[in-house]
Amino acid sequence: MDGDTLPAGTITVWLGEIRRAIDGDGESDVPCGECTACCEASQFIHVGPDEVDALAHIPKALLFPAPGLPKGHRLMGYDEHGRCPMLVDGRCTIYAHRPRTCRTYDCRVFAAADVVDTDPSKSRIVARARRWRFDEPLQDDVVRHGAVRAAARFLEDNADALPLRVAPVTATQRAVLAVELHETFLDGDPTVADVVEALTALAGRAEA
Ligand code: SF4
Repeated sequence: MDGDTLPAGTITVWLGEIRRAIDGDGESDVPCGECTACCEASQFIHVGPDEVDALAHIPKALLFPAPGLPKGHRLMGYDEHGRCPMLVDGRCTIYAHRPRTCRTYDCRVFAAADVVDTDPSKSRIVARARRWRFDEPLQDDVVRHGAVRAAARFLEDNADALPLRVAPVTATQRAVLAVELHETFLDGDPTVADVVEALTALAGRAEA
């Protein structure tokens, strides 16, 4: 049933795993089951120039240069139904060779950050994200989960005060940044300057 809740794991354990995946040091291990919502949500998939295995398994005709990124970075689009062209009969045909973007995607970020994507094309991801429930057995779990939510609220409430170069544009970016930023919110209420400094450090790390 669509409305059943799903165990998302212990929040602090999951935070460690998702941050390692974001840093390129691991993969998301989402218990997707039969769900393919994110593969059918009109998403452009970034493929970096170093992703030799993925590039070897995606037909060249499906890839185009990624706007605003250096030469060699590519995007793969979606079909008229919003579906990834590598998804056939509900299965990823290049699963063992899938791009890093797919390996690190985890819809539990929306549940962790309490962020709802209002884009109608993401409605199935929203429905799935609503079902996740994190465990918080320790006080540290409660505090960290609160910090992730506080970070997401801050990014939304102060969107106009954040420089464009570091501000999240999409709901996904806001949820992911809330996870990455949450330690800035562990010890109280940071200022906009504190958050801009943390966002700038994160952007610098991503570009390095
Ligand atoms: S929406 Fe979530 S559960 Fe569904 S396939 Fe994507 S990552 Fe897995």
